[in-house]
Amino acid sequence: MFKSTRSDCMPYRLFNSIQHYSWGSRGADAFIPRLLGIQGELEKAYAELWIGTHPNAPSQVIQGSERISLATLIARDPDGILGTGVAERFNHQLPFLLKVLSAAEPLSIQAHPDRAQAQRLHARDPKHYPDANHKPEIALALDRLTALAGLKSAEDLHSTLLTYPEIAGFIGEISADSQDIFSAVIRRSLDVPQQLSVASQQLAERLKQTPAPRTEVENLFLALRPVYGDADVGLLALFLLNVVHLEAGEGLYVPAGVPHAYLQGNIVECMANSDNVIRVGLTSKFKDAEALLEVLTPDAGTLPVLRPEPELPEMRYTTPAKEFELRRLDLEAGAQLKMPARASVQVYLLTEGQISVSWNEGAEHYACGESFLIPARLPVWQLTALEKTTLFKASVPE
Ligand SMILES: [Zn+2]
Repeated sequence: MFKSTRSDCMPYRLFNSIQHYSWGSRGADAFIPRLLGIQGELEKAYAELWIGTHPNAPSQVIQGSERISLATLIARDPDGILGTGVAERFNHQLPFLLKVLSAAEPLSIQAHPDRAQAQRLHARDPKHYPDANHKPEIALALDRLTALAGLKSAEDLHSTLLTYPEIAGFIGEISADSQDIFSAVIRRSLDVPQQLSVASQQLAERLKQTPAPRTEVENLFLALRPVYGDADVGLLALFLLNVVHLEAGEGLYVPAGVPHAYLQGNIVECMANSDNVIRVGLTSKFKDAEALLEVLTPDAGTLPVLRPEPELPEMRYTTPAKEFELRRLDLEAGAQLKMPARASVQVYLLTEGQISVSWNEGAEHYACGESFLIPARLPVWQLTALEKTTLFKASVPE
């Protein structure tokens, strides 16, 4: 246990880690290096920037002459950094993880467990489920985001099965319920994997022979088949989920048990502090179809597109999550804001522009891609936009 030491009353600049998952953007145009103003390595994929205390990649801060993990800073003074209420409610830990995510290629088709399921999965398989927490998440598009989100309605699934008899043939008897149709495809992929390969192959051959223009999902299916192979049930699952296109500023909130996949785009993401991902397909990582069937919710249907509500000067994205709330601030050059004291922690990330932050004892400059934490103990502070600036703020709902 750390000895409790009172933290300094100042904003903390955050030094964050980058995850180089294979689906990240790469090359001269890779989004995350551009955002951070750094020279990326051309052949490396830049997938995610993690801002928080998750043990897989905790952010670091400077305290005095020491560079320490943000988790250590919080452990030394949970009340001063998090605020008493948040510290009490969330076991003295930062309850959220903020990310920038840049997908050049599709992420796996996945779902996240609720808290009880996460505890079970973590106890059973700690290697693949690294913590016991749930992972509700919000994704906000920075440009355009293409994603698969939630199961199609029963009506849409029935017409999908008519259009793609290869999938209908694969599952055999067809239920009236959309969750059952999705589950049947996943279940059959475990029971009769050879037939899954045959169905994918037949579907691919028919699509290639059909001259008509193909749908977005058909093109995706044909493009991903050589990457993952016919034995990957994600190829058929593509046809069973809703395709959504988000414009900059729009978002998705993904609760537990809803299958989804981000296909392409750059987003700001905030989630409960967890890395529990149950993957079912479109990945070379560990797949766990059994666990996915366990967590699938009966109302895993269409996810509404989130649009922010103005609560000026902020734009607020409302979700039911208890661990986080995400807001956006769009500031014109020269804009000055007096930021009121708040009883709990806030984390800011700049995705455009630059600002100066001043408080009674000093001032700091933050550029695009940089982030900082405002401890609960800091009283009033001031923010000045040095040029047109966009900031995201993650905090805990009151
Ligand atoms: Zn997810």
